[in-house]
Amino acid sequence: MMTASYCKISILRLCRVHPKCLRGCSASAVAFSPVHAHYCTSCVVPVVDRDTYSQAFGNSSFSLKSYSSNTRVPLSYVNSQLPKKIHVGIKRETLTTVKIRNQYSIFRLCRPVLLTNQCPTSLHHNQGSTRKISNMAADGIKLSWNVKKEQIEKDTDVLMERVKTVYDSVGAVKDDQVTFDNVVKAAADCDCWYAVERNNIDFFQHVSPSKELRDASVAADKKLSEFDVELSMRQDVFDSFVAVEKLPDFKSWKPESRRFVERVIKIGKRNGLHLPTEIQEQIKGIKKRMSDLSIDFSTNLNEESTTIEFKEEELVGLPEDFVKSLEKGSDGKLKVTLKYPHYFPCMKKARNPETRKIMETAFNSRCMKENTRILEDLVRLRDEKAKLLGYPTHAHYILEMRMAKKPEIVAEFLSSLKDKLQALKKEELDLFRQYKKEECEKYGFPDDGQINNWDLRYFMNMAEEKKYAVDQQKLKEYFPMTVVTKGLLKIYQDLLGLVFTQIKTTDVWHEDVTLYSVKDKKTEEIIGYFYLDLHPREGKYGHAACFGLQPGCLSADGSRQVSVAAMVANFTKPTAEQPSLLTHDEVETYFHEFGHVMHQICAKTDYALFSGTNVERDFVEAPSQMLENWVWEREPLLRMSSHYKDESAIPDDLLEKLTLSRQANAGVFNLRQITLGTFDQRIHTRSEANTAAVYSETCSDILGIPATKGTNMAATFGHLGGGYDAQYYGYMWSEVFCMDMFASKFKKEGVMNPEVGDLYRRCILQPGGSLDADEMLRNFLGREPQQEAFLASKGLKA
Ligand SMILES: [Zn+2]
Repeated sequence: MMTASYCKISILRLCRVHPKCLRGCSASAVAFSPVHAHYCTSCVVPVVDRDTYSQAFGNSSFSLKSYSSNTRVPLSYVNSQLPKKIHVGIKRETLTTVKIRNQYSIFRLCRPVLLTNQCPTSLHHNQGSTRKISNMAADGIKLSWNVKKEQIEKDTDVLMERVKTVYDSVGAVKDDQVTFDNVVKAAADCDCWYAVERNNIDFFQHVSPSKELRDASVAADKKLSEFDVELSMRQDVFDSFVAVEKLPDFKSWKPESRRFVERVIKIGKRNGLHLPTEIQEQIKGIKKRMSDLSIDFSTNLNEESTTIEFKEEELVGLPEDFVKSLEKGSDGKLKVTLKYPHYFPCMKKARNPETRKIMETAFNSRCMKENTRILEDLVRLRDEKAKLLGYPTHAHYILEMRMAKKPEIVAEFLSSLKDKLQALKKEELDLFRQYKKEECEKYGFPDDGQINNWDLRYFMNMAEEKKYAVDQQKLKEYFPMTVVTKGLLKIYQDLLGLVFTQIKTTDVWHEDVTLYSVKDKKTEEIIGYFYLDLHPREGKYGHAACFGLQPGCLSADGSRQVSVAAMVANFTKPTAEQPSLLTHDEVETYFHEFGHVMHQICAKTDYALFSGTNVERDFVEAPSQMLENWVWEREPLLRMSSHYKDESAIPDDLLEKLTLSRQANAGVFNLRQITLGTFDQRIHTRSEANTAAVYSETCSDILGIPATKGTNMAATFGHLGGGYDAQYYGYMWSEVFCMDMFASKFKKEGVMNPEVGDLYRRCILQPGGSLDADEMLRNFLGREPQQEAFLASKGLKA
């Protein structure tokens, strides 16, 4: 029996008072007013008691659908038979989008109406979470952010218990009794709600303004990650899936269901479930340690809060608005942090090489002591695990499930590109040295005749400004964040056939956060929601990223769970004098991350395992990178900009220079990416590594600029702490496909062509991970992918 408690909320009541239909038809219409109800806290369906229900709906004569038998029941019967507590799942989005003509259609809006006093999810678990969902404005969101520390702790335990119950039942099915329902559906349903509730616990660590909540979230994440390791090592569940695959009718199942089963078995084997128990135990131990280490690695970076104090004259060259925005420290000095909005301007604009050197050294020494040790432990553990599973190295293990398949292919990809880029790099570095000579003579700085790490961004920026004469400061004035946001959202809507609506809600983790619903323009169906959290604050995740929070997939009752994602970034906050102005880089980042958001939301799969961006990791950047192209094209650029003072458009000459500047510094920029990708492959194709030494060696080999003495950039390389290990190359790899898609379709048929946008949405975004990336690409391109467009974008020939 269900033991969940109920929390008080309001649900929408239907009554017929409005003279006109909401959608403009003349037949009898409905309006909505609140009725007291509660949410069942386990299944998140509103629950009302019998009297309230009769009062609210009792005068109606429309029939209701019975949840259990799936037959229509007249209301008179319902009234006499109602259980004390009724689960009524009223979906507000359905109410507002379906044409309402008569009473009958009202009923259609109330699906699913669950005539049961038993919570449907109690079939899977005994206890509900303590979470109260207050996002009434956004029905379909099963997440809540008004949470206390104790709740996180309690929810974590309850959640683990519930999941374990499902796994126990799936694992307990005898081999000769396995069916789709008792194994595949049971596990998939669990995946669906587990993902939501888990994200609703561990997302706080990245964004909550409360240190207490962040800490509770980190602790819970550790616990849950260990629990995930346990789950992934369940031999009994693995065996049930192996038995399912042997069912005589398995071959005739829906392809996505077959893929799910095959994937679960493959993952099981990659966890060693086909190996002897003692090896499995070793693997389990290693995975648990790795998961803790990964979390520590990223927490250390997030919590890092070094500030450096500079005299104002040491910051000469930096824009006035930047200097003005700095906090004052001791003796009138100015405080600079190592967060992106401080670090990058300093590296690009601070004229004094000593200032840049201090900044660069501090930046690449962040968390050096603790994170170097963690990363090197991780390298050892990853190798150990790969060998236990029968792979030569960790990179072999990782790449097996990627488009690239093997380390040799990645090495060849990176090194052939490196060779192609050498001539470009030489030209660029020669120019930088010349600039440096001139600067040193002009301002009396000593010239060591070489380009150091702390010089690189400064002279790259100078080359952009001089060679292409793009004045980034001037350009910034055309990108107020509100204008960019509006333009960006409009472009995505037009291109992909979507409608975004901002929703007022207080159920967010910080007051800066906004929430939008996403509707399909044609069907008017709500397909998801996204949050935007765009400004830095203490303790917040320090990069730009998209977090999937609620997978879009089928839920237990067969209805579609809408997808919810959050974009987190660190764009400069507005000041009293000036709105938040974005650099062109930041606009590009915005487009990039929002590309991930769209991938999360437009994917439409049956299984959470294949939802959203759950594609091959070396393809996952392709959709987001492809959308970066829009910030280099005239038409979209004009749509997302206007001067913050007089709303004038970017002048033509500035626009032209900007688009030309895209290939600026292509040699150095891409070789740096290759350095990172190669470093990642190098440390993950050996059994242990001195990361500082390997990094420095790789820098010298590829870029020809050694790492700054006493630093270890690897300790700050968040990607390698977990998630992108042995796969950083994926950024460049997926660029091949993104440029191919862009050049052969959008560039040819129009960057704002909605037909191409629709094809793209259907072929690339919608399948999520339910198809292999190369199949999706063939569907979209109508041929095999090619490298030409990618090379051309770097100023190279095939
Ligand atoms: Zn990305």
